[in-house]
Amino acid sequence: MVEARGLRRSYDQDAVQALRGVSFSIARGEFVSIMGPSGSGKSTLLRLIGALDDEFEGTLNIDGVDLRKLKDPEGFRSKVIGFVFQSFHLLPTLTALENVQMPMFESTRSGPQRRARAESLLEAMGLKSRMHHLPSKLSGGERQRVAIARSLANEPSFLLADEPTGNLDSKSAQMILEVLDEVHEKRNMTILMVTHDPMVAARAQRSLRMLDGEIVEEVLHRKPAD
Ligand code: ADP
Ligand code: ADP
Repeated sequence: MVEARGLRRSYDQDAVQALRGVSFSIARGEFVSIMGPSGSGKSTLLRLIGALDDEFEGTLNIDGVDLRKLKDPEGFRSKVIGFVFQSFHLLPTLTALENVQMPMFESTRSGPQRRARAESLLEAMGLKSRMHHLPSKLSGGERQRVAIARSLANEPSFLLADEPTGNLDSKSAQMILEVLDEVHEKRNMTILMVTHDPMVAARAQRSLRMLDGEIVEEVLHRKPAD
């Protein structure tokens, strides 16, 4: 699903080397976390993988697509990658149901199909009774579950979660990790989760630990088949 070889990215005319030769692979259906302290290069790597930054050296293939040769990054993102952020990024004036339908306006689904899919995703997230609420009427954990439902709307091949529990209390964080587990298992979703929290990172099958722009350790938490 992801093949990264020798990724390098520097800023400020090479004054800052954010990635210094990063290589790894993620197989389809794997749940992998990237951990590391602030400044280790996690966000930089995530931007490359999310096709938000093409100023890098090395090779990066996602779902068989060479990101160096990508003609339409926006189209690629909306079809292939589901994004989940620390700060949810829900539209405050839209209900949960409307937020989940948003990404589907670019798809070929009809109105009723969009609505039915959004309802079914929210139901799967345990939010059946919350669908018509605005984000401001939902708890942080509920907002993040809406955001996860939205990230799945266009059936991405790959979920990219950036500190998905970073803004949540520990109980809500646990629930979000359970939801991600379920999405991984039931939908056979490939997930890459970035976190600075080792406890959160350990919920993935495998962790890559970054330090100063390099992957310095790989930890296997569970066998891929588990
Ligand atoms: P992390 O997400 O692990 O905190 P980052 O990828 O944000 O790490 O940062 C890696 C290094 O690159 C840090 O030294 C950071 O200061 C630097 N950096 C990140 N973004 C920029 C930028 N846009 N311009 C200059 N330096 C940057
Ligand atoms: P924060 O940690 O400040 O809350 P987020 O987790 O919300 O930030 O966002 C993390 C990263 O995702 C940022 O580097 C940002 O540039 C990027 N990002 C923000 N919005 C989008 C978007 N719509 N699509 C893809 N990437 C985004």
